[in-house]
Amino acid sequence: MPHIAVVGSGPSGVYTAQSLVRQGSLPDVRVDVLDRLPCPYGLVRYGVAPDHEKIKSLQNNLRTVLQDDGVRFLGGVEIGPALPPAKLLELYHAVVYCVGAAADRRLGILGEDLPGSWSATDFVAWYSAHPDARDDGFVHGARTAVTIGVGNVAVDVTRMLARGAAELAPTDMPQAALGTLGASEVRDVYMVGRRGPSQARFTTKELRELATLPETEIVLDEAELALDPGYREPAALPAAVRRNVEVLRGWAALPRRGAARRIHLRFFLRPVEITGDRGRVAGVRFERTRPDGRGGVTGTGEYEDIGAQLVLRSVGYRGVPLEGLPFDAERGTVPHTAGRVLRGGLVSPGEYVAGWIKRGPTGVIGTNRPCAKETVTSLVEDAPAFVRKDLAGDPLAGLVAAGARPVEWDGWRAIELAEAALGRSLGRGSVKIPDWAGLLSAARGAPGA
Ligand code: NAP
Repeated sequence: MPHIAVVGSGPSGVYTAQSLVRQGSLPDVRVDVLDRLPCPYGLVRYGVAPDHEKIKSLQNNLRTVLQDDGVRFLGGVEIGPALPPAKLLELYHAVVYCVGAAADRRLGILGEDLPGSWSATDFVAWYSAHPDARDDGFVHGARTAVTIGVGNVAVDVTRMLARGAAELAPTDMPQAALGTLGASEVRDVYMVGRRGPSQARFTTKELRELATLPETEIVLDEAELALDPGYREPAALPAAVRRNVEVLRGWAALPRRGAARRIHLRFFLRPVEITGDRGRVAGVRFERTRPDGRGGVTGTGEYEDIGAQLVLRSVGYRGVPLEGLPFDAERGTVPHTAGRVLRGGLVSPGEYVAGWIKRGPTGVIGTNRPCAKETVTSLVEDAPAFVRKDLAGDPLAGLVAAGARPVEWDGWRAIELAEAALGRSLGRGSVKIPDWAGLLSAARGAPGA
């Protein structure tokens, strides 16, 4: 019976497990889905914004897979020096790494690390209750915020900054973050792209949502939008981009309402420095750009400062190397061919990748399905070679011998119950537990844990 480890229980890990057990090509396959955290679902739990209930409800589909008879969730198991990839290969017939892209891309400009300048991923981790997140206060003392980048993460954090306490309270956001965001005095949020509106990475649904926020209006400068040839003549644009442009055009035509909060959408401004005052962020200096006719931009030598007390750098995620696995630092991914890990250009038997660590941090959750399927197809083709390997027994014993104390499904269920109880005690729905101690004590309280 082949026993496969999937490392990571986000969408790519769970879709990989699903492909393994449901494809039927590996009869009697058993799959252990390991995660560093005691909680499953990866970015669906710790990345999807709390007010996106519909996307969050995808957890229900992922849950069905993790509860499949052939699948076992083992949380709280970290692959690292104590439990390296080589050890996993001894314990399992094959291992699929679905570890995502845990870090943020850097801008590489002066002032990037000033207090008050955070990566959007830090901010998202905090309001999503990731147990490694630091509470940096974020919005304390801020009236104006700048979000650098115009992808869907930028839209998420911009929207979260513009939402009021009443809208956030029904979410599962941790209580401390709710208190901080609920008391926020941020009134102006600038979301700034270095290229034009027709090159923005956000999707139309996410963009449109910005105009639905209560007491918030969108501020645009039609002349700035019109620097983009695609904006002036949208007919030739691909449909998805044209829809974005049409939404922006509609907003630009609206009169200002004088709402309490404003989201300013700015384009053709590239960040050159995060400026400071008395050791804290004071704003961002941008260089005006113009289209270069090839989809890129060139600098014009004109500069504009936007004053702000909070800067969120939302310029994409970045994969991080896992000790003992090869890594392409340029792309932030593990080198592979059709999901088979390559070491020194040669296929490493029994090692696979899927998801963002395989293809880079792009695409929506559903993109992980075909990605996982491709990897599983490779794995199934290779199976005759690796299933002959004799395993020492149940890999769980080997994990424990290596020092791991796995949180099994019952432990995770206990966390869910504790979060529901916490929410009830606060007069809210389920509320996430934001710290390691709280998560582990809930998990270890489970019968049999
Ligand atoms: P993204 O879509 O790659 O967007 C990154 C943004 O940062 C782009 O606007 C990019 O501009 C800009 N950027 C990169 N380097 C820059 C620099 N040096 N200076 C200024 N701007 C820079 O990344 P993301 O927003 O992190 O999203 C990651 C993935 O998750 C995406 O596939 C996204 O769709 C997905 N996601 C989806 C949802 C949803 O469906 N609701 C929510 C969140 C995330 P250029 O284009 O000019 O490089």
